[in-house]
Amino acid sequence: MHVERDAMAIRRIYHYPEPVLKQVAAPVAAIDDEIRLLAADMAETMYAAPGVGLAAPQVGVSKRVIVMDCAPKDQPPQLVVAVNPEIVAREGGSVEEEGCLSVPGYYASVARSEQVTVRYLDLEGRERTVTTDGLWAVCFQHEIDHLDGILFVDHLSPLKRALFRKKWKKLQEQQEEQL
Ligand code: ZN
Repeated sequence: MHVERDAMAIRRIYHYPEPVLKQVAAPVAAIDDEIRLLAADMAETMYAAPGVGLAAPQVGVSKRVIVMDCAPKDQPPQLVVAVNPEIVAREGGSVEEEGCLSVPGYYASVARSEQVTVRYLDLEGRERTVTTDGLWAVCFQHEIDHLDGILFVDHLSPLKRALFRKKWKKLQEQQEEQL
């Protein structure tokens, strides 16, 4: 099944603290045209941002769909669309700096599993299981968190979260001044 390119659109990215980002997203019952169009729009929105991952709640849709492309910039694009993704195994630990299209302008180090095995459905409804590490593993964990209403700043220590809230307030005020 193919989605008409003309029908695709860049969608608005929801920002912290909009409520949809805190909701647990619903599993996708059937991969139909609506889901295929959502995934296509999400990919377009992610590439335009630009970003390496996007979860459906970030465009205001509380459904378990994520898109990612963590291919190095000098390599061809490698779009992954994962429906109902689930982490089925984890190994090791790593701490990397993360950012989020829903928390623009803020970056922080987050502790994650170093390697994850993820089971999901692709857009043809085929079940896939991948084991990955590095940026892809961080991205899978970050995006699947979004489906459970968790943002990367929720992983920070209470002190760092307080600093984040302060900095975020300042960023919002600066934006308002610019308007
Ligand atoms: Zn994010």
